[in-house]
Amino acid sequence: MQLARSLATTALAFAGALATGHALAQQQAANTQQQVPGYYHQVIGTLRVTALFDGVVPLPRAQIAGMTPAQVDKQLQGRYVPESPAGLQTAVNAYLVQVQGRRVLIDAGTADCFGGGLGHVVDNLQAAGFAPGQVDDVLVTHAHPDHLCGVLGKDGKPAFPNATLWMDRTEAAYWQGPGAEANTPKDLRFIVALARRPLDVYSAAGRLRTFEPGDGSLPAGIEALASHGHTPGHASFLVPGGSAPRDKLLVWGDLVHYHAVQFANPKASYEVDADRAQAIESRRAMLQRASREGWWVAGAHLPFPGLGHARVEGKGYAWVPAEYSPLPLPASP
Ligand SMILES: [Zn+2]
Repeated sequence: MQLARSLATTALAFAGALATGHALAQQQAANTQQQVPGYYHQVIGTLRVTALFDGVVPLPRAQIAGMTPAQVDKQLQGRYVPESPAGLQTAVNAYLVQVQGRRVLIDAGTADCFGGGLGHVVDNLQAAGFAPGQVDDVLVTHAHPDHLCGVLGKDGKPAFPNATLWMDRTEAAYWQGPGAEANTPKDLRFIVALARRPLDVYSAAGRLRTFEPGDGSLPAGIEALASHGHTPGHASFLVPGGSAPRDKLLVWGDLVHYHAVQFANPKASYEVDADRAQAIESRRAMLQRASREGWWVAGAHLPFPGLGHARVEGKGYAWVPAEYSPLPLPASP
């Protein structure tokens, strides 16, 4: 009797475990359809940066300028960059910086300007525990749609209702002025309207501010560094992180599009760069400075989370990605 009861109990427990296992397997199958949330925190001295994943775009090998196709193929061999017939997988990242009591978003992703699969900056900001209304400032490196479209929501209103939008004065004037259409190839002219819309909306709300590199107007001690070339007023941002000289974060925007090529060969350019010679010079100067100073780097199109360091390698540079790290424990009282 005792034995029968014990066997029945075991059978019941076993059936229960099977049912739980089945439910777990179903849950896991559902989970495989969705990637983990796209955010990552890094503490640098007194600042904290959260990388936010917007999505990926394919960039064709053929749009790498300044190298022959054979040189490009050779350079990419063994780099294992995911590639589809449309091009090399290229991440689109934005960065939320918490510095000196402010929450500053640098670049804002594509929203719905580039179609499905992208536009996840706000989702990932929320997954990381922030509400869009908590963002104090949005700094954009330039006015291309993968950096600026995200400042507007689907309703056409500011996606960050309490934020001031900051843009380099030269950049804003270029896109708002009559020359933008004339200087943009016909098949890319749609980006002019995409750049003007958010500028108009924030300007009408009295929340558009422009700066010039070195004028000291940016919030929280953030410094704008001129890195023109990809666009006429492209800017990078140096964020202070305390007293140690290395505790700085350079959010460099679009200085590198093809990481597997342009670190080793900074003279390789991107066909879309407005002024290739200037873009090459900006990339070379910024790589030299960031590697010499040991600054942290965040790149809008580096593999997510796009945080790490640049170091000298041979006649060029190499990318040293951040290592996944626990956050420092809060100081005990
Ligand atoms: Zn870009």
